Amino acid sequence: MKPLIGITPSIEENETMYTVHRAHCQALSDAGGVPLILPFAFGSLLKQFVQLIDGLYLTGGYDIDPHYFNEEPHPSLGKVNPLRDQFEIALVHAMLAQKKPIFGICRGSQIINVALGGTMYQDLLAEKGSRLIQHKQYRDLQYSSHAVKVEKSSLLYHIVKEETIYVNSNHHQANDVLGVNLLTAAVSEDGVIEAIERKGEPFVLGVQWHPERLLDQGDVVSQKIYNRFVKEASKVRTEVNE
Ligand code: MN
Repeated sequence: MKPLIGITPSIEENETMYTVHRAHCQALSDAGGVPLILPFAFGSLLKQFVQLIDGLYLTGGYDIDPHYFNEEPHPSLGKVNPLRDQFEIALVHAMLAQKKPIFGICRGSQIINVALGGTMYQDLLAEKGSRLIQHKQYRDLQYSSHAVKVEKSSLLYHIVKEETIYVNSNHHQANDVLGVNLLTAAVSEDGVIEAIERKGEPFVLGVQWHPERLLDQGDVVSQKIYNRFVKEASKVRTEVNE
């Protein structure tokens, strides 16, 4: 059986509607996984999700409540969904406890960090100053807009085998101080952390960009990352069935 990948959705319309860009589901099924969208749940239902899935996939979305890293809301903080933050942070902890792979996209990369005690820039422009490159691109997201340097000792480098890769960018927040056992896997020219991973894990990776959209243009690097994630999840599935 193919590995089951739990996808966290965004919540919209006054927290009445779950939404997921179909590119996420497509990317995961093209890589050989079975995408499953998870409604927000806690307690025994959340526990069952974690038992069921072989990998967790955290999608992008609104800002993260700075309360989780002991800050007051910055004037440029955008919309937050407290329920989503709570669900995803609980999921990250439960998945790590089970040693199952996690792949975080954009906000997903930030939630992995915050769950592990890291901090964030609530607004890059306001807090990191004027020497930034553009991280909210105006071209469509299927096109890359800036380069990132991949750390040679990282899992990400091991997967993509490139020191410089080209990514799209649609974020005004970013990770700052990293949480427990997290490492920087890639940075942009201005020093913004663009990818993180967890030391010693086969696959706990967060990327600040949107690889699911770059696949529209046949991006080989994105394909390699999805393939590896699903491969690691399939190892979990095999262990379960043994
Ligand atoms: Mn960026």
